[in-house]
Amino acid sequence: MNKKLANIKGLIFIISGPSGSGKTTLLKKVLQQKSLKSRFVKSVSLTTRQKRSGEREGRDYFFLNLEEFKRLKKAKKVLEWTKYLGYYYGTKRDFVEKKLHSGKHIALCLDYKGALNIKKLYPVNTVTIFIVPPSIRILRKRIKSRCCKTKEEEISRRLKLASHELRGVNKYDYTLKNTNLNTAVNRLKGIILKKIEVAG
Ligand code: 5GP
Repeated sequence: MNKKLANIKGLIFIISGPSGSGKTTLLKKVLQQKSLKSRFVKSVSLTTRQKRSGEREGRDYFFLNLEEFKRLKKAKKVLEWTKYLGYYYGTKRDFVEKKLHSGKHIALCLDYKGALNIKKLYPVNTVTIFIVPPSIRILRKRIKSRCCKTKEEEISRRLKLASHELRGVNKYDYTLKNTNLNTAVNRLKGIILKKIEVAG
């Protein structure tokens, strides 16, 4: 194995799932658990999309304009990136590298492309988990309630993308159906604790 990778102590947990699958809430709840809180950090992505109501700079995302994003990408400060529904999203390279070397475990919410790219970069340390929504009907309801300004056109685009994303589910290490939040939290916590224990 590459010497640089062999020195890495932390694990990377990537959570993916369609918009409205509940992955962000699920991850937030799991990281609040006593057994995990001090050992984990959540990576905050860069994005060029607009801030939604309730979102905070630096907590949910770092909101940038296209020029700023492109400048960081060109300077190799973006570890992986994607274009999702017309907006750019990317992971900060220095954050991930520093935390991994310090022995912290990292949680990231990424799309399919990001999950596969990080797995390629850190094959041994990465665990990929796909969150499956209970049904398309519930997914539609969640997307709609997320923001009152979400237009029909955007809902259709997100749903179309969701069915596309669901086709990549077999590329993930684990899949988890988010029908009941508490059950899903316990399952996700179980997967994470097991992986940490095995990694020693
Ligand atoms: P949203 O706009 O709903 O917050 O995110 C849209 C999609 O982009 C979600 O699937 C989310 O997981 C993904 N995403 C957020 N940040 C990143 C990132 O840094 N890299 C990649 N590849 N995907 C991201």
